[in-house]
Amino acid sequence: MSVVTRFPPSPTGYLHIGGARTALFSWLYARKHDGRFVLRIEDTDRERSSEQSVQAIFDGMSWLGLDYDEGPYFQTRRMERYREGIEQLIKAGDAYYCYCTKEELDQMRERQRARGGKPRYDGRCRDRSQPREGVSPVVRFKNPPEGNVVIDDLIKGRIVISNQELDDLIIARSDGTPTYNFTVVIDDMDMHITHVIRGDDHVNNTPRQINILKALGAQPPQYAHVPMILGEDGKRLSKRHGAVSVMQYRDDGYLPHALLNYLVRLGWSHGDKEIFSRQEMIDLFDISSVQRGSAVFNPEKLLWLNYEYIKAANPEELRDHARGHFKNAGIDIDDQANWKEVFLVNQQRSKTLLELVERSAFFFLDIDGYDPKSVKKHFKGRASEVLLAVQAQLRQLDPWSTDSVHDCLHRLAEQRSIGLGKIAQPLRVAVAGVAVSPPIDETLAILGKETTLRRIAAAVEYINSLT
Ligand code: GLU
Repeated sequence: MSVVTRFPPSPTGYLHIGGARTALFSWLYARKHDGRFVLRIEDTDRERSSEQSVQAIFDGMSWLGLDYDEGPYFQTRRMERYREGIEQLIKAGDAYYCYCTKEELDQMRERQRARGGKPRYDGRCRDRSQPREGVSPVVRFKNPPEGNVVIDDLIKGRIVISNQELDDLIIARSDGTPTYNFTVVIDDMDMHITHVIRGDDHVNNTPRQINILKALGAQPPQYAHVPMILGEDGKRLSKRHGAVSVMQYRDDGYLPHALLNYLVRLGWSHGDKEIFSRQEMIDLFDISSVQRGSAVFNPEKLLWLNYEYIKAANPEELRDHARGHFKNAGIDIDDQANWKEVFLVNQQRSKTLLELVERSAFFFLDIDGYDPKSVKKHFKGRASEVLLAVQAQLRQLDPWSTDSVHDCLHRLAEQRSIGLGKIAQPLRVAVAGVAVSPPIDETLAILGKETTLRRIAAAVEYINSLT
């Protein structure tokens, strides 16, 4: 039997961290077992679902590289099928119309509570044969009255629920629309899902879904309920804990694989290994070794991983991910002759792609103004004179390379009996606009002679204009 897993998000918002991790686990499980991965959009709640959210889910999945083999299916396009399923259950006597009014149900619950019991539907319409005038009925599933439902959860182990705990669930509302637990069952059955991997907030639905599946004559799939993700304060992960939308991480300059790597380690481990290539994730991931307790989201660790991936990335790959970020900064990275050298000196220093852009921008764009703090600190005293001396020396330099620039600046420092910093810092501010850059010799070598000399001249002019 080949493995089929699914990711069935409700399009009521963006793709968030928790959803992405569930999708990843399901995707990995399918890939590992040469199975199929199905994407299904659970959009029956028309009020809360939106086109934008559907698009956000597609975008998130595609950015993360979680490709699917089937779908996307849309539940709103399968309404006919759900009606058919409801008919089937009614005909077989496994579902019935319930005409109870809201008042009756409220009273029922009230009485149950007063007796110290749990409120539940008491099944009073089960044997009703007559409709009730003026009431559009709901349809309820006839839950088996006796016995247990046993779930051998791949993560949580065996879970046993007595059928007496479960009441007769509404599977169709009075307007005929099917409810969540029913559409999921029909879909999981029709799509031949073998493994349902989902958040453990659904664990209470599972026994109900198993009973309905059995009534429809289907073999229930295997279940794996993944524990929640918590923030560092122990509360359920939410916006308070930072970005929760997957696409926000893209916008903040994260690499998709860094996020995937972070997510796969959220509640799962393989010895003390931290870095997993895509293939390693597929080969090593095992749903049954997902931990039973909840996982804690740690943004610093995600940032650390991102940094590791940026450092190790080949520049071409990095350029593909950074292209949009450069564009936002007004830089067409494909037009830059020296982009690769710039990446190579900055990759080792950039924790995010935004930082890479920030550190790289002055190589590609003329600087517009100088950082006031750097000016105060380094464009003072003899800075202008030093810069003029540097300019004179550099003008003579041939060939123009990291080594030749290095020697030239050192020679000058020696001649003038000053520390290299007294030369390098004003020079940095002159060419980069701030007192931070990669090593000054590499920086000038990459900038090129002409740009370097032009920027020094502009800086001298600026300094002179200050006094
Ligand atoms: N649409 C449900 C959700 O987003 C899917 C639950 C399931 O995996 O069965 O929570």
